[in-house]
Amino acid sequence: MNKPVIILGGGLWGCLLAYKLKESLPEVEFILYEESSMLGRHEAWTFRESDCPKALKWLKPLITKSWHEHRVRLGQGEKAYHNPFHLIDSRHMHELLLEKLPAQAIRLNNRLRAGLALQESSFVIDTRNICHFKKAGYKKHLTVELELQHEHGVAAPVVFNKNVKNKDGSRIFSYFPLSSRVLLINDYWFSSNQVLNLEQMREALNEALTSLGWKVQKIIREESGVTVVPTSEPLFRQEGRVINLAGLFHDTTGCSIGHATRLIEKMVSTSFRFGELREVVNIYRSEIENDRKFLRYINKLLTEETPGQLFEMVHEQPFLLERFSRGELNFFDRSKIVLNKISSGLLPLESHSRLESRQ
Ligand SMILES: Cc1cc2nc3c(=O)[nH]c(=O)nc-3n(C[C@H](O)[C@H](O)[C@H](O)COP(=O)(O)OP(=O)(O)OC[C@H]3O[C@@H](n4cnc5c(N)ncnc54)[C@H](O)[C@@H]3O)c2cc1C
Repeated sequence: MNKPVIILGGGLWGCLLAYKLKESLPEVEFILYEESSMLGRHEAWTFRESDCPKALKWLKPLITKSWHEHRVRLGQGEKAYHNPFHLIDSRHMHELLLEKLPAQAIRLNNRLRAGLALQESSFVIDTRNICHFKKAGYKKHLTVELELQHEHGVAAPVVFNKNVKNKDGSRIFSYFPLSSRVLLINDYWFSSNQVLNLEQMREALNEALTSLGWKVQKIIREESGVTVVPTSEPLFRQEGRVINLAGLFHDTTGCSIGHATRLIEKMVSTSFRFGELREVVNIYRSEIENDRKFLRYINKLLTEETPGQLFEMVHEQPFLLERFSRGELNFFDRSKIVLNKISSGLLPLESHSRLESRQ
């Protein structure tokens, strides 16, 4: 009898893979291992529809909330962009997977070693993100779901608010209305150090809430963490019958959903045998490498003195923002970013020529 495939890690990657595998290739036997008691560990992921338009059809049952547009604040007033935003809440994803998958296909509270996993399986798909990078810096995340004492009046997500000032490197402050009084707030700080000073971040978040005229009734949920802002390709162990999905996230924003959905679609279009899958993953990695190099170059700018300008520029233009968020900047986008940096004096000319020779 064939041994099952083991999916190691029930985070966003592992759960999306398990869900799609069950839908597209129900004959493939697999076991999803997660060391915590909840798939997705109480996280929530927001994403633009344009990050993965083709995947929306199969992602729909996992989506907890959608907004048909989003907005950007670059000064007085808001600009509306007609690109829908969606939210996947892991609490819902956890319930749905428990309902859809056979009981033996999910093992929670189960920390598995890759070696042991190999003995028990035909092969392992490792989604744990264990890899090394040269780093430009770090992205500190603070996500809070909160209820206000009053109605907030926010009709659509505001994904960049220039008026919320930086404290430590550059900052992307966004908020998503979940109901008339409840908001999901994402506060992302790009920083050269990895110290997660939650007191400082909470204080800055409170200042931002006050500046927006909001009074908090209660905090419903808080989630925080630090991810890397890389400047080099991920280095990871690739040995034995293991398909390693480490480091497959957007190099600047740290979001995984774009690469996860695109590669999962390719993976389930195979017969799901080890050799073929490994080839599909390797080809995907090499196809996206050129785009990723430019994002890693952008990352170096984020740790300089006035990096907020770069996010401002990207958020000013809807199509540039779409391509940036998908990680697929074209030649004109890249030139615009480089020229903008030169004219604002942030980028020495020799860096410009180094960049051109890399493209
Ligand atoms: C606060 C915060 C907010 C974020 N918000 C967004 C967002 O809105 N949109 C977005 O796209 N990205 C967001 N991100 C980035 C986010 O980290 C990634 O997009 C995504 O969670 C990565 O998923 P993953 O499956 O690759 O890795 P992980 O989420 O790290 O999943 C790996 C899983 O493996 C499990 N595991 C580890 N070792 C073992 C073991 N030995 N045995 C069994 N299980 C194991 C872990 O418990 C974990 O659940 C956010 C990050 C943070 C910290």
